[in-house]
Amino acid sequence: MNVSPAVAVIGGGPAGLMAAEVLSASGAQVHVYDAMPSVGRKFLLAGRGGLNLTHSEPFDVFVTRFGERRAQLEPMLAEFGPQQAREWAAGLGIETFVGTSGRVFPTDMKAAPLLRAWLHRLRAAGVQFHMRHRWLGDGALDVGALRFATPAGEVVAKADAWCWRWVARAGPAWARTARGRHAAGQGRGRGAAAASQ
Ligand SMILES: Cc1cc2nc3c(=O)[nH]c(=O)nc-3n(C[C@H](O)[C@H](O)[C@H](O)COP(=O)(O)OP(=O)(O)OC[C@H]3O[C@@H](n4cnc5c(N)ncnc54)[C@H](O)[C@@H]3O)c2cc1C
Repeated sequence: MNVSPAVAVIGGGPAGLMAAEVLSASGAQVHVYDAMPSVGRKFLLAGRGGLNLTHSEPFDVFVTRFGERRAQLEPMLAEFGPQQAREWAAGLGIETFVGTSGRVFPTDMKAAPLLRAWLHRLRAAGVQFHMRHRWLGDGALDVGALRFATPAGEVVAKADAWCWRWVARAGPAWARTARGRHAAGQGRGRGAAAASQ
């Protein structure tokens, strides 16, 4: 029997939500855990002054913004760069425009409509959200038993793999699957266009 692996994504900021999207599209059962009562709070704050999604400058100029990390990030940006970020936003119904500075913004400048549409799409794809769950791990290999502090006390969640920010850990069953390798490869690229902020 081919059972979808369960993957825990810790942190529901834009990085975690993009990881959840890629993992879900690859067939995983995705659970997003966040310490706060709602996801994307910093992202919403970012939208207050006008959400700068990416930049319109030519790719060879854009990649120079990443300094010492350019070599590491350039292959990912080639896969998911400024144009893909704009297309991704358009897929959520959010059109963008290029400001006089060359920076790219949603037409209404706000983050809230984008986040709303994104969460709607993730939920429709089966991603489950667990708010007020503060992960108690420290990055050690605790695959299979993730401990969270919740208002109801400590809870333990099981997962075949988990990711937190840019750190990912997988149990042996997940690592062996082609889907697992595929998801890990895609996940490295997604979201890179916005990482220059
Ligand atoms: C005022 C302001 C303006 C900005 N403007 C822009 C902009 O215009 N364009 C742009 O691209 N960026 C902007 N940024 C930056 C942008 O908000 C961040 O780069 C982005 O939010 C980082 O995303 P992230 O997912 O890595 O982390 P975060 O958004 O910080 O998300 C991390 C999540 O993890 C959760 N978490 C942390 N620890 C735990 C734990 N132990 N257990 C469970 N959950 C946990 C947090 O509650 C949070 O929801 C701005 C930021 C600020 C503050």
